[in-house]
Amino acid sequence: MRDGAMKKAHEVEALEDICKAVRAEGKVLEPHVSRLSEAFGQRVNKALDALNEGRIKKYIFQPSGRVVWIVVGKNRDYIVMPAIDYCSCYDFYFQFDRGHVCYHIIAQKLAEATGAFDQFEDDDQFFSVLIKEWKAPEQRKPKKNKRAEGEG
Ligand SMILES: [Zn+2]
Repeated sequence: MRDGAMKKAHEVEALEDICKAVRAEGKVLEPHVSRLSEAFGQRVNKALDALNEGRIKKYIFQPSGRVVWIVVGKNRDYIVMPAIDYCSCYDFYFQFDRGHVCYHIIAQKLAEATGAFDQFEDDDQFFSVLIKEWKAPEQRKPKKNKRAEGEG
């Protein structure tokens, strides 16, 4: 009963706990990596790659002060909103309820803890434009064209 919720809390808690230690040191050290690997397995390597390759960006929209983080992936960008524990990836979408923290969220939290990210400020009016752009690869799926039915 409620295993997913308990595991979710456990992963988020474990991550925040480790990030606290990382923040105190100002960088990710070997003992942190061990703890991260123990808690999150392979996801940690991908998160650390993103961190080391500078693929984590923070956007602050003004005047609302809304914050959106982007993790730049190989094929697309992922939107992470830590305030609501949200990521736009499939991994998150299908597994977060079952207690799974995706590597983008791990990367974002480590970036925030170490300060290893690029920061941009933009106007609120660009928020929806950028969100559309960032989500574009998923929206480009061709829609079935009803007009074509009955032809041929
Ligand atoms: Zn994700």
